[in-house]
Amino acid sequence: NRRITLAARPEGLPEPRHFGLDTQPVPEPAEGQVLLQTLYLSIDPYMRNLMDPIGPGYASPVEIGAPMVGGTVSRVVASRNAQFRTGDLVLANAGWQDYALSDGSDLLALGDAAQPSQSLGGLGMPGFTAYVGLLDIGQPKPGETVVVAAATGAVGAIVGQIAKLKGARVVGIASGADKCRHAVEELGFDACLDRRAPDLAARLAAACPQGIDVYFENVGGEVFDTVLPLLNLHARVPVCGFIAHYNDSAPAPGPDRLPRLTATLLQKRVRMQGFIILDHYGERFDTFRREMAGWIAQGQVRLREDMVDGLENAPQALRRVLQGQNFGKTVVRVAE
Ligand code: NDP
Repeated sequence: NRRITLAARPEGLPEPRHFGLDTQPVPEPAEGQVLLQTLYLSIDPYMRNLMDPIGPGYASPVEIGAPMVGGTVSRVVASRNAQFRTGDLVLANAGWQDYALSDGSDLLALGDAAQPSQSLGGLGMPGFTAYVGLLDIGQPKPGETVVVAAATGAVGAIVGQIAKLKGARVVGIASGADKCRHAVEELGFDACLDRRAPDLAARLAAACPQGIDVYFENVGGEVFDTVLPLLNLHARVPVCGFIAHYNDSAPAPGPDRLPRLTATLLQKRVRMQGFIILDHYGERFDTFRREMAGWIAQGQVRLREDMVDGLENAPQALRRVLQGQNFGKTVVRVAE
């Protein structure tokens, strides 16, 4: 059983030396357990947060020497649990390793899903995050302007496509011309701006002539600074993430911008609300999966995966996400 472990806690961007690779005997399932083989491993930004000594609050940090955690699509290869049979495909939390045990309580049977890795992306946690954050907090109305950054990523691509289905005008922000072209031509966004090209603030103002009603916050940093003055009266800001800061080891120098934020929230009556998707699982996840499967089947939502081969390449895949080098939902193919 190959495992990728946390070898040391990074300051800044994780380097190869922060990860270890070891091999252990494949574990044996006890009564009530199943043995899972990892087929696909999801790579997500929160994994960086779990490498820090103090966790983000919603999950414990990974211990030094322990395997990195992560969502997986796994195959049951031995079962001592009456609910699962050998060969079943399941959505699981097996982490960065070839094999893992589960008592079944955290597994979702995937049946004979044609593209099971989609259950790590648009049909899984990131898609559910987009759905809950946009619909519950963002509440886009027809004709309103929705802005989302990391626009071609796992969450952002779904945010923009659901917002279009709800009749909103959608402006994406992403890095590079290829991603921006994809957002407009494949995902149906009305516009998409390259965050690395000059004059983002002026270009965003031009792309949002009616201001911004919903800003789905994925990134923080400079993008948030450019969005803030464009927020409309009664704008909604679902706070999903702030990846631009996940590698920060100290507060950035510079002027205190908190009063400007507070003044905007007050004067524009903005509602800015954080959410953690773990709070929303249960029946709602089934409803989401049905609705999203329908949208995908009808071609109303398109999914793009950034597939990386080999468990040993998972650390590099996480580095790519943290640097904006992924193009679509990042998934590691661990086994066929
Ligand atoms: P993505 O697939 O979107 O990959 C991350 C993207 O973030 C990169 O491709 C890049 O897009 C962008 N990015 C990276 N660094 C920066 C930077 N310095 N400034 C601006 N953009 C940057 O990841 P996910 O869709 O999985 O996650 C998106 C966000 O949602 C993250 O903040 C994540 O933590 C959050 N999240 C929150 C959840 C919750 O429960 N609240 C659940 C799931 C995700 P580009 O280069 O194109 O700009």
